[in-house]
Amino acid sequence: YTTIHSKGKGSAGTIAVLQDVTGQEKLEQARREFVANVSHELRTPLTTIKSYLEALEDGALEEPQLAGKFVSVARNETERMIRLVTDLLQLSRLDSKQAIISKETTDVTEMLEEVADRFSFQLEQRMIAIEIDVEEHVDEIMLDRDRIDQVLDNLVSNAIKYTPEGGHIRIHAGRREPAVLEISVQDDGIGIPRKDLTRIFERFYRVDKARSRSMGGTGLGLSIAREIVKAHGGTIQLESELGQGTRVTFTLPYQQEEAAV
Ligand code: ADP
Repeated sequence: YTTIHSKGKGSAGTIAVLQDVTGQEKLEQARREFVANVSHELRTPLTTIKSYLEALEDGALEEPQLAGKFVSVARNETERMIRLVTDLLQLSRLDSKQAIISKETTDVTEMLEEVADRFSFQLEQRMIAIEIDVEEHVDEIMLDRDRIDQVLDNLVSNAIKYTPEGGHIRIHAGRREPAVLEISVQDDGIGIPRKDLTRIFERFYRVDKARSRSMGGTGLGLSIAREIVKAHGGTIQLESELGQGTRVTFTLPYQQEEAAV
């Protein structure tokens, strides 16, 4: 901190100006890292697209089968960039508190069953079983359905991505004191090494970048989930054991009138 000695007549006091320099530096560093990450994440697919376009120009266009393959790679990379930019826009809205949370009364069981339905094809393909377990008294809750669906989709899609064939996913919902709904998504997949756990909610943080990319991940899913849950006044946490599995648990407060059950 900086100390300013006041020399004014009759005021022999000392004013200490406290400045959280380390906090500011950390923020600045995080911002720089974020920009570097975004640039890198966009540059990678762009470089790929460029080289495939060049190959097409250099003759691949004359070979229909090859051309078809190259076009589909370019298209996949374009889709990855769209996903990334969509995620970034959403994070930026949540950051600037511009995101409007519009809550509606929601039946929890129905919501969870619909998540499982959305993934039924992928689950079947990977031969992963899903179980939904809703405790008594969970009832209905006010929440932003689109946004909480996104949280659930991110968590279930992670559970599928990082669980080998034949695995098992369990979605559990229960009511906890003081008047919160607790939802957890648990898998028996590859798990996360202990040293990575503290950073797992950071933007772009991935245990295995190559694996995440090949699975179509942007590295933003958990950060978005955290911001959405925070915007609802809830909390989110992740527990994991390497080689055993992962459980992500989040809470959402019931409104006052719902709490008085
Ligand atoms: P991604 O798009 O890479 O999946 P996320 O923000 O959703 O990004 O997750 C960040 C990282 O956390 C992932 O890259 C992965 O390493 C790890 N992770 C998330 N969920 C799980 C899970 N259920 N099992 C194992 N690792 C996970």
